[in-house]
Amino acid sequence: MKNTVQSIASWGNYPRVNAEVFEPANQAEIQSLVLENERIIARGNGKSYGDAALAPKLISTLKLNQIISFDAEEGVMECEAGVMLSDLLKIMVPAGWFFQVTPGIKQITVGGAIASDVHGKNHPGAGCFSDHLVSFELMTASGEVKTCSRSENTALFWQTCGGMGWTGVVLSAKFKLLKIQSSYMLQKTVRAANLEAIFSAFETHRNWPYAAAWVDCTHSDWRGAVFFADHVKEAGSPLVFEEAPKRNVPFFAPSWLLNPLSIKAHNYFYNRKNKDGERQVTLDKYFYPLDALQNWNRFYGKRGLVQYQFCVPENNAQKGIQQVLEIIRKSGETPFLTVLKRHGERAPEALHSFPIRGYSLALDFPRTRGIFDLVKGLDPLVWDLGGKIYLTKDACSAPQMGRVNPASFGEPKFSSLLKERIGQ
Ligand SMILES: Cc1cc2nc3c(=O)[nH]c(=O)nc-3n(C[C@H](O)[C@H](O)[C@H](O)COP(=O)(O)OP(=O)(O)OC[C@H]3O[C@@H](n4cnc5c(N)ncnc54)[C@H](O)[C@@H]3O)c2cc1C
Repeated sequence: MKNTVQSIASWGNYPRVNAEVFEPANQAEIQSLVLENERIIARGNGKSYGDAALAPKLISTLKLNQIISFDAEEGVMECEAGVMLSDLLKIMVPAGWFFQVTPGIKQITVGGAIASDVHGKNHPGAGCFSDHLVSFELMTASGEVKTCSRSENTALFWQTCGGMGWTGVVLSAKFKLLKIQSSYMLQKTVRAANLEAIFSAFETHRNWPYAAAWVDCTHSDWRGAVFFADHVKEAGSPLVFEEAPKRNVPFFAPSWLLNPLSIKAHNYFYNRKNKDGERQVTLDKYFYPLDALQNWNRFYGKRGLVQYQFCVPENNAQKGIQQVLEIIRKSGETPFLTVLKRHGERAPEALHSFPIRGYSLALDFPRTRGIFDLVKGLDPLVWDLGGKIYLTKDACSAPQMGRVNPASFGEPKFSSLLKERIGQ
């Protein structure tokens, strides 16, 4: 089996560690890695931001990349855990199917989608990835493979969804898809003059299944735009997954490139570009707008970026989020990208899933020296609001902020830097 020692980081390029990366090609090779090592963790495509997929020894799942079956009549996909969502889209969309739930990036693995229990822009109606999972196969610490579903190994099923790899290595999974008639989305853009108008747009457009807002943190009243969408219902042009032409950021930008002034200028032009009204856009453009610029994380320079994504309950959401934004403003740190989403109720068993009924805000900050102090100041407020942070994005929050206790489930063998930071 191939293994290399690499200097490795995830999407935020922070933290970076030296790790031995194993690339098993089958179940037997994964089993020997699990049995022979005391501290090891699965790694998909490394698109978590912080230290969730980092450890001194990593099991890369990227060679587990086979589709096992695709029922194009019923819309059920079964594949190995290292298959990328981007590869599945090329097969499912022409057959008239899409993901029930997809994050804002398609270069992630199915194993990563389960371990983070990812959510999309349709959380109020569709929940998380786990809501549509039929079953998965899990390599446990003893080297045994267990089938987990809502009727078999149920506790392990729910611990693994959002369990950040701490229960074992997901080998393969079966999940249900969404029927679509068109490869286009009807998108409605609503520009908003301030934070209150953003929240009010979310509330008055509850009939749109998909919604996400851009918030301009450099503007005095936090103006923004909310992008609502629904699948186009009439069959028109052929079903095809059309990817936006890709551009690449070939090398790390100098660290000074993203500064409060350049971010303000960017937001000014982005705000002008957004136009109120409805139009049709491709699936790729609505769901994965950032994928058109490969390696965009290099804009943050070699120091990397830190994403702070937190969720707060509905009753406190607008006030609480405004308080957070006020603290950020006073700190002098400027997020380059800020995205607000509304969340619905989660399945009662899905204790490790990030979203709670309310709103989440994701803020991408250049990793400056001040960012750690800022996070230290934000965590207690988010906690007091009854909120939590998203572990798959985390690199520096206080241990309790994910509201998950790794000591209460999982296996000591499956350990990442994130788990050690939170406490075994
Ligand atoms: C631009 C961008 C946009 C994003 N948008 C969203 C979004 O809208 N919603 C959302 O929920 N997330 C979002 N994410 C986060 C991303 O979807 C998750 O971090 C996802 O888990 C990454 O998958 P991966 O294959 O890259 O996994 P990795 O980053 O490699 O690993 C993530 C976690 O999964 C575990 N893991 C991976 N594979 C396995 C396996 N086979 N068995 C057991 N554990 C495993 C790892 O141990 C780690 O804890 C976004 C990320 C980026 C970069």
